[in-house]
Amino acid sequence: MSGSLILRVRAALSAIKDPRSGRNIVAAGAVGGLSAGEDGKVRFTLDVPDGDRRAAESLLKAAEDAAKAVPGVTSVSAVATAHSKGAKPQEPPRGGHDNPFGLKQKPRIETAGEALSGVKAMIAIASGKGGVGKSTVAANLAVSLSARGLKAGLLDADIYGPSLPTLFGIDQKPEMRDGKIVPFEAFGVKLMSIGFLLDPDQAVAWRGPMVMGALRQLMSDVDWGDLDILLVDTPPGTGDAHISLIQSKKLSGAVIVSTPQEMALADVRRGVQLFRQTETPVIGVIENMAWLEGPDGSKQFLFGEGGAERAAKDLGVPFLGPVPLYPDLRQASDDGQPVAATEHPAAKVFDRLAEDIAKFAKLG
Ligand code: ADP
Repeated sequence: MSGSLILRVRAALSAIKDPRSGRNIVAAGAVGGLSAGEDGKVRFTLDVPDGDRRAAESLLKAAEDAAKAVPGVTSVSAVATAHSKGAKPQEPPRGGHDNPFGLKQKPRIETAGEALSGVKAMIAIASGKGGVGKSTVAANLAVSLSARGLKAGLLDADIYGPSLPTLFGIDQKPEMRDGKIVPFEAFGVKLMSIGFLLDPDQAVAWRGPMVMGALRQLMSDVDWGDLDILLVDTPPGTGDAHISLIQSKKLSGAVIVSTPQEMALADVRRGVQLFRQTETPVIGVIENMAWLEGPDGSKQFLFGEGGAERAAKDLGVPFLGPVPLYPDLRQASDDGQPVAATEHPAAKVFDRLAEDIAKFAKLG
């Protein structure tokens, strides 16, 4: 960490005026997490005006340019955040029938950075809605894949509710090595979350380009090294993060997690369509919280029976299988102990699903 470089960058940033308060952005407290490596790489977050994309982008650019102009700075990574209490994530735009996501055009396919060249398969874990257990499923699948002897990674790209730090009980900030962010490792899985880079108390409303920039950074600035499989826990719905993944050209397929309710199923359809539209194979649908298992082995179908399986069939995509509702799973997750790494009956369920995913990725 280069202390004097930080001071010089801070001084350069102090020359920029925050349009909201009229004070400079440093004095206004808009600059956070400023760091500078020995190699001259500078990083910081910038709290930008909420609800005014143009003002936000121009402030971010001004700050980046000021930092870049400081002698000794070789590169600048600035991530914009917007404070707004109770801010809601943006709804993905919806267009007409042929274009349910409101995409202005088919996503432009760009070359992926060299950064992920050591990753054999990258798989998105998606869901139509929040709260269906997508992150829980992604975390346990990653642990099961690692238990099968594969080099597995998990990238938590759920900017609206990163849960990987809790699921794996990690509350430190990651370190930098040779200008790259070093992922954590737990239960044999390499881990990185946008939650490690953001202040958890900050209510953050991300705008489209920022979501895409953050995700690109998590793919290219993290030292993933050689991996057989990298699972990406995506934000619920279909939006900018998904487009970014598709544009990286590294996405091998997508798994969709749903609960059995009809409401959730409408969203499954939208998810399937997005991936189809961009020729990303849908590996299949996992039905989470499929039933509540009694101590006598009886099943209580709290949210209806077999809905996700029927939807998968209707949509012509594979049904990977159900995950029952385990009342003790929430506690295990809050304790930072993924059940897939324990003797819990869920470990078998996740292992079977991991087997199918490994087979799809030609790793099984
Ligand atoms: P999402 O990522 O879809 O928002 P989470 O993975 O955060 O959902 O899960 C939401 C809540 O449901 C968490 O408290 C989690 O522990 C719980 N949960 C998820 N799957 C199950 C399950 N199969 N059985 C019991 N609780 C579950």
